[in-house]
Amino acid sequence: MKPIRVIGAGLAGCEAAWQAARLGVPVILCEMKPTRYSPAHKYPGFAELVCSNSLRSAQLSNAVGLLKEEMRRLGSLVIGCADQTQVPAGAALAVDRERFSDLITERIKENPLITVISEEVEEIPSDGVTVVATGPLTDGKMAGAISDLFGGDELSFFDAVAPIVEGDSVDLSVAYFASRYGKGEPTDYLNCPFTREEYDAFYEALLHAELAPLHDFDAEAQKELTVFEGCMPVEVMAKRGYDTLRYGPMKPIGLPDPRTGREPYAVVQLRRENAAGTMYNLVGFQTHLTYGEQKRVFGMIPGLRDASYVRFGVMHRNTYIHSPGRLSPQYETTSRTGLFFAGQMTGVEGYVESASSGLIAGVSAALRARGEKPTGFPASTVIGSLGHYVAEGTIGKFQPMNASFGLLTPLAYKVKGGKRKRNDEYANRSLEMIGELNARLFGDAEKEV
Ligand SMILES: Cc1cc2nc3c(=O)[nH]c(=O)nc-3n(C[C@H](O)[C@H](O)[C@H](O)COP(=O)(O)OP(=O)(O)OC[C@H]3O[C@@H](n4cnc5c(N)ncnc54)[C@H](O)[C@@H]3O)c2cc1C
Repeated sequence: MKPIRVIGAGLAGCEAAWQAARLGVPVILCEMKPTRYSPAHKYPGFAELVCSNSLRSAQLSNAVGLLKEEMRRLGSLVIGCADQTQVPAGAALAVDRERFSDLITERIKENPLITVISEEVEEIPSDGVTVVATGPLTDGKMAGAISDLFGGDELSFFDAVAPIVEGDSVDLSVAYFASRYGKGEPTDYLNCPFTREEYDAFYEALLHAELAPLHDFDAEAQKELTVFEGCMPVEVMAKRGYDTLRYGPMKPIGLPDPRTGREPYAVVQLRRENAAGTMYNLVGFQTHLTYGEQKRVFGMIPGLRDASYVRFGVMHRNTYIHSPGRLSPQYETTSRTGLFFAGQMTGVEGYVESASSGLIAGVSAALRARGEKPTGFPASTVIGSLGHYVAEGTIGKFQPMNASFGLLTPLAYKVKGGKRKRNDEYANRSLEMIGELNARLFGDAEKEV
């Protein structure tokens, strides 16, 4: 059988190569390190974690915790190696990053079906089955080749992203539905109203909140981006003066609170992010605060005290495809059968999410190489829901997305006992589907990594 080609031995590329080999398909894996490193990569091993060493929550009641369990049951290389190199981190799965990378490198190199080639690939192969997984810092000729493939202007290079919260975690005894001046559908926006005292406390907290560390290459790009008012981080705007936010993203004009009939002192608007209303975006709140500070400071917004975050705001360089309509839920291009993309560049966000897309792309590429049709991963699983998000997008601008229960097909029935019980139901439903999928795809294949 002709080998499939995987470009990039990061989290997604390693997972894709591993899964294809598990299905008996030979793989050529090309990695440019150690000849060339991106500005964030430093370690010669594969699947390098470029920033935090945490793969986030290990709990099934959390979407990324459930995603890891799904992947574990599907024989994931990345999660298997993370389990074996973990360090104590409370309810999270964190790893010793060098042992993690070394173990993955070793497993890949000793796999008889995988041939590793150390080279920078500058173009997308014109035939055969290929998975491109060159990551969010893809540059040079490969970035040009990807851009050309999608019509010349389809890559985003810098992310200035506002947080997204789960719709049912917003306190509706405080927030209210309304569109400015009554234009459009009132249900498109939820409004969080501030009194003067609440605004003062929030403003002070925002001024002194802790920022995430910035890489040099991000600092340059951020400087350029901040020139555009629409992309300015909310904390930078606050530093311009006490009233800047009240005349900007927190403007209350045209948004009277139906309970008082009066306009509040300030308002944070939440825009519906999907048709089901399970996700809401904090309008104009792109930010560079640390995740912890976003939880603390944005938790002071009336109505968001107990908000669950689908994704936090980020500002960093990020090359990603505008995937809806261009990739299928199996991460295959709709324009060319046999050409797949995987990892952060497809529009998923995070280490685990990137690896999860590699898992689907690797399995699907192997099936193509065997002359079979790629299997669907249902949107009732977290891994499948991310593929569907990438292929279908949401109402607003397409932006990279973390795992979230808000992306799953809603349950067909109401669950009593609160969010935790509802999430347990999501987990039960998903793991049942994963069991069936696993049996169908791998049969008796070795499941332990
Ligand atoms: C600065 C930064 C910090 C981040 N921090 C976090 C974090 O703390 N937590 C989190 O969950 N997510 C984080 N992310 C997001 C994301 O999870 C990671 O970027 C993740 O590594 C993406 O996995 P990937 O497989 O898509 O790409 P990568 O892991 O970057 O892998 C891409 C691989 O392809 C290789 N490559 C690139 N171009 C070529 C080429 N032309 N030919 C051959 N090989 C090539 C690279 O050397 C690399 O090994 C961060 C992203 C960035 C940019």
